[in-house]
Amino acid sequence: MISAMHGLKRYIRYWKHAGVHRLRKGKIGISAGPFAPFKTTRIESFDEYGNYVRSMAGEYESRELTEQALRTGQEHFVVPGYCFVCGQAVSFLADYDYGFKNEDGQRIPNWRECLICPGCRLNNRMRAAIHLFQELCRPWPDCSLYITEQTTPMFKWLKGAYANVIGSEFLGPEYISKSKNTRGIRNEDLTGLSFRDEAFDFVLSFDVFEHIPNYRKAFSECRRVLKKGGVLFFTIPFDLHSARNIIRAEILPDGTTNHLMPPEYHGDPLRESGCLCFRHFGWECLDELKNEGFSEAACYLYWSREYGYLGGEQLLFLSRA
Ligand SMILES: [Zn+2]
Repeated sequence: MISAMHGLKRYIRYWKHAGVHRLRKGKIGISAGPFAPFKTTRIESFDEYGNYVRSMAGEYESRELTEQALRTGQEHFVVPGYCFVCGQAVSFLADYDYGFKNEDGQRIPNWRECLICPGCRLNNRMRAAIHLFQELCRPWPDCSLYITEQTTPMFKWLKGAYANVIGSEFLGPEYISKSKNTRGIRNEDLTGLSFRDEAFDFVLSFDVFEHIPNYRKAFSECRRVLKKGGVLFFTIPFDLHSARNIIRAEILPDGTTNHLMPPEYHGDPLRESGCLCFRHFGWECLDELKNEGFSEAACYLYWSREYGYLGGEQLLFLSRA
């Protein structure tokens, strides 16, 4: 039965028997699920994205109608679907916390941060990151994996699923890399990691690079600690319609922060005040990754009603050392 084969167990079994762990090189990856096939689209440039968008007009309209129909007037509501992580049908929990208003003044949920599975407690973006990590990177049980977070449900889940997982947070400039605070949280500065060269098969980083003024050094450090062929798998705030990165703030030579746009702070598990966002990325960041020594860099687009990956076009990035 396909449904019984689905989910993490299927992959672990797959790796045990197949013993291979190469990246999928095809343009489109499709996995059989209990509902419709789940499709991701790999895009490598601004021009390629332009052609893709033109082909998607009808599909975008249908997705918008689907998402509209799922919203209720209730503050809290559920969206039935299938959790890839739990491998079962669930009712995802949704609300309007940190939501938006559209042009018609209607409230739109922050779909990416909600749709929490009542089983694994992971939200839309975390479930999708795990799903696509499995699909695109084919991690094996004892792969070496570094994730740039340690206080989150995502870290906890990875730690339970794989044997060699290291997580860290940026605790502040007063901490040196590899040192730990009183809670046992490890400090790492992504622009100067303490790990040896080629230490990891995978580096995972979710919504972190936008907070690092010298993000190109961070890209270069991630490449340095990855084995040849290893993968940096990540998310960033990304403007699909922008060829260039959008600089919101910069650090001046005298060390002060210059805001070029109204300051944007993102939620931070360690700081009540949040964390300043220095930029939203555009397509040029794929070239910047290659300039820092990665052999490939691509954006994967996805959306799924069944798996609860809602909120318009969703994105994840993959760059191979
Ligand atoms: Zn779940």
